Amino acid sequence: MRTFHCSCGEILFFDNTQCVTCGSDAGFCPVCRMLVDLQGNAESGYRCSNPACGAGLTKCHNYQIEQVCNRCIALPPSGQPTEIFCSCCRYNTVIPNLTNDDNREKWRRIEAAKRRVFYHLDLLGLPHGKASDGFVPPLSFEFKEDFSSLENPQPMGDFGEYETVMTGHLNGKITINIQEADSVERERLRVHFGEQHRSLIGHFRHEMSHYYWDLLIKGKREEAFKAVFGDHNNPPYADAMRRHYQQGPPNDWGTRYTSAYASMHPWEDFAETFTAYLEMVAALDTAFHLGLGGPGVYVNFDEMVAAYKRLGMAMNEMNRTMGLKDLMTRPLVASVIKKLRYIHQLVRNVHVPGSTSSSIN
Ligand SMILES: [Zn+2]
Ligand SMILES: [Zn+2]
Ligand SMILES: [Zn+2]
Ligand SMILES: [Zn+2]
Repeated sequence: MRTFHCSCGEILFFDNTQCVTCGSDAGFCPVCRMLVDLQGNAESGYRCSNPACGAGLTKCHNYQIEQVCNRCIALPPSGQPTEIFCSCCRYNTVIPNLTNDDNREKWRRIEAAKRRVFYHLDLLGLPHGKASDGFVPPLSFEFKEDFSSLENPQPMGDFGEYETVMTGHLNGKITINIQEADSVERERLRVHFGEQHRSLIGHFRHEMSHYYWDLLIKGKREEAFKAVFGDHNNPPYADAMRRHYQQGPPNDWGTRYTSAYASMHPWEDFAETFTAYLEMVAALDTAFHLGLGGPGVYVNFDEMVAAYKRLGMAMNEMNRTMGLKDLMTRPLVASVIKKLRYIHQLVRNVHVPGSTSSSIN
């Protein structure tokens, strides 16, 4: 991620909704893909303050009304936007129950993580869309909480009187249990599952990676996928999952996989490796724009990996200096790099022409 500047000269960060110095409203312009101060007002419409852009804008409904977003929508020449939601919020089909104040804060954290992931998906030119955009499978998000008959006396859906929301992906529908936005609960789950890290942004990257398997591999590139990740039909996913939770990962997983969880099944290996690739791109982009060196993301794959190794060593030593956990924990061993190279080629092959990733080589 990069930083941006307000017209007054102050730095603007990706999550800002206001400039701390001049008080201007700030928002993400989808035309120039910059976080800018917004000139104008809600009634007459806003204008992007980037002199090279100047697009007419309106705030996303979830910014203007719900205050959980900071993105804008470009106004067409007619002045009337065709959608009230931004390019991230438009995929939501279920949002948390907002009669509970804690839920709004959880939703705000969830949307912030989601926008960060979409920024880099769009930087790479990775496609995504709804049914109305002609996408199969169509992408959607559900943000739900566990349902308990004690808290909610009405009977509920298919699950009788109790429903535990499973975070996951199915046919383009990504479900996030909003408890993942509670840092105490998330840490409890991280320890329970023996994970190095557990974060909202990590959930979005992982589940979007499953979406990309369905969108880009399924029925299109399955043979090439098998050659790198193994046969996803054998053993069946349910059998592999049962074995993983009964026996744990193989002792040598660190020599073959990007995480212990990746060893469960080729689908999880793909999702974890795709996630690792998105992490690498985001980290290199951030390091480059903050003056920490490195080539950014517009270089060849081998240079990206070399820069990421150097950056990871530096960041881990910095964290140890501050008494924190290692920041980068994925082993960058030969077999993982081979799978990352496959992801890099896949991203290059599918990127939407005209996107900013066209200079990736
Ligand atoms: Zn300012
Ligand atoms: Zn703009
Ligand atoms: Zn929005
Ligand atoms: Zn998964």
